[in-house]
Amino acid sequence: MFGEGRVPADLMLIGEAPGEVEDQTGRPFVGPAGQLLTTILESAEISREEVYITNVVKCRPPENRVPTREEMAACWEWLSAQIALVRPKIIVTLGNTPTHWLLGRADGINELRGRFFPWKGGIEIFPMFHPSYLLRNPSRAKGSPKYLTWQDIKAVKTRLLSLRSPTPTS
Ligand code: URA
Ligand code: URA
Repeated sequence: MFGEGRVPADLMLIGEAPGEVEDQTGRPFVGPAGQLLTTILESAEISREEVYITNVVKCRPPENRVPTREEMAACWEWLSAQIALVRPKIIVTLGNTPTHWLLGRADGINELRGRFFPWKGGIEIFPMFHPSYLLRNPSRAKGSPKYLTWQDIKAVKTRLLSLRSPTPTS
C-alpha cells in the first residue's frame, strides 16, 4: 500500500502501517481511524484532496503489531522518495511510530505532540496523536487527547496559511 494525495502538497501526513481495510483497498487511512482522520482535517478546513497521506511501513504487519525497525528501514527508501516528490512544508506524524522514526527521539507522543520540529530540507515535523488512539479515548473533555488534537490541527492550519502568505514588501 503506497499512499495517495496531491503531489506536490504543502501538508503530508504519515501514519504507521496499513490496517485491514487499507490492506484490502490499497488506500491509506480509509478504515475507522482514517474516517476520524478525515473529520479532524475537515474541522480545520483541510480537505484530503489537498494533502498527501502515507505510512512509514507499506505492508500490513501481522495482527497489526507495531512495525519493527527492520521493517521501517526496509520501507525508508520508498518513504524518503515520497517525501522528495511531495515536497511538503509540514509533515504531521501520527502517533509514536512515525514520530520516533523521523525525529530520532524516544520521548512519548504526549511530550512531542503539538510542536513544530525543524527537520531536513526546511520541512517542519508536527507530531499528533494517532486517530486509532482517539478511537480508544473518545472523551472530548478539556485536556483530553481529542481536545488537544482539535487544537493541534488548528495550529497546523494556521502555520500552513502563514507559510503560504507572501512576505510583506514594505
Ligand atoms: N493506521 C495507520 O497508521 N495507517 C493507516 O493507513 C491506517 C491505520
Ligand atoms: N501511542 C501511539 O503510538 N500513538 C498515540 O497517539 C498514543 C499512544
